[in-house]
Amino acid sequence: MSMLHVDLDLVRKYNIATPRYTSYPPATQFGEMPAEQVLEQIRANNENSHRDISLYFHLPFCRSLCWYCGCTTVITTQQRQSTTYLNYLKRELSFMREFLHREREVVQLHLGGGTPTFFPPDELRELSHVVREQFCVAENLEAGVEIDPRSLTHDHVAALSEAGFRRASIGVQDFNPLVQNAINRFQPKTMSENAITLLRDAGFDSINIDLVYGLPHQSVRSFGETLDAVIALRPNRLAVFNYAHVPWLKPAQRLLQWLPTPETKLQLLKLTIEKLTSAGYVYIGLDHFALPHDELAIAQREKTLQRNFQGYSTRVNADIYAFGMSSISQANGTYWQNHKDLSRYYSALDAKTAPIAKGYVLTADDKIRREVIMRLMCDMALDFDAMSNSLGVIFTDYFTRELASLKGLEADGLIEADDHGFAVTDLGRLLIRNIAVHFDAHQNEKTRQFSNSI
Ligand code: SF4
Repeated sequence: MSMLHVDLDLVRKYNIATPRYTSYPPATQFGEMPAEQVLEQIRANNENSHRDISLYFHLPFCRSLCWYCGCTTVITTQQRQSTTYLNYLKRELSFMREFLHREREVVQLHLGGGTPTFFPPDELRELSHVVREQFCVAENLEAGVEIDPRSLTHDHVAALSEAGFRRASIGVQDFNPLVQNAINRFQPKTMSENAITLLRDAGFDSINIDLVYGLPHQSVRSFGETLDAVIALRPNRLAVFNYAHVPWLKPAQRLLQWLPTPETKLQLLKLTIEKLTSAGYVYIGLDHFALPHDELAIAQREKTLQRNFQGYSTRVNADIYAFGMSSISQANGTYWQNHKDLSRYYSALDAKTAPIAKGYVLTADDKIRREVIMRLMCDMALDFDAMSNSLGVIFTDYFTRELASLKGLEADGLIEADDHGFAVTDLGRLLIRNIAVHFDAHQNEKTRQFSNSI
């Protein structure tokens, strides 16, 4: 892909609230469900499935709050909290282990947060040891961890490397000190650079950098400098997120001043896509970019890319079993989410019950639509015959109304269609949520809770 030009008039037209489709239906559709009912679904799925497993651990603690943060975190300086939490994670693992065949292979392991490196190196070693003790771990395990350079030490890197981690996702957000000061996240550029060097020296061969646009004081000039500095570090992947301002949900965001105007945000987005694509990155879609030889870009070319709660993934046919407060799991026909509140999560495990708060069992129609939306978000194209074969329905009959509704998108140049299917154009990659939403049967009031496409 050569440099992509962004048409801001079209972006303005399509800048409406849409789900990110890390799941279908989106998590806002999950409802209260007795833990027992979810466990029955998990048990049934397990009995009928030998699918691989992807494990996710939510490690929620952070020493200070970044004022823009939208994650589920626990802010604390009490180090002993990690030890307590690790003990509860171990209890949850033993509880759920009953529901999983021993021979199902773990092909993916991800530590997210919060700040995984809030945990001392020995506790990260212990967690990895417990995983290897309780599960059958694949030789070619893909293990990734979210890294906050402010709390990364040599010992952390050594512990993670020993445990087989080779992928790191590094939170940078912006290198500009004025921006960092305004978001309460002080992270000198050299600190991020040193973290990357440490990780690469320890054998981490896949580095992702996270940036955020729409933060206080960001301008086209200043964010351009951050992008240039990041490109010079040559990460394998980049995620450049749109800052979502939702102070009614995240009160600390009220502390943010000097937010850029909507027009400046659009200019920042245009700058990001144009700079990264001209620097040789492939625009995967939404907020993700990868070098052409990265697995993500290869999987997209080969149409094996997947989308799940962690974003884009290269592992096909794996169920996600997630542990820790607020974590979301996904087995074939069921989603479930743990309690978002730490004390409720602990209480459920104290009572020897599953810490599950919500769930959703997919209908036959949901499963069909999920496959369509996931293929669209990953392949940036739909082939009607191939979809008919994989879904067991006549695609053009099943989706007559939805396909007719795409005419406007075609006229605006977001897709190119013929009788056999349609392909998403380069511009459509940016607005892929607006295309996918046409196949969403749960479009209703709840949709308004989502952030705008851009
Ligand atoms: S380190 Fe990450 S998770 Fe923690 S407060 Fe900052 S942005 Fe949120």
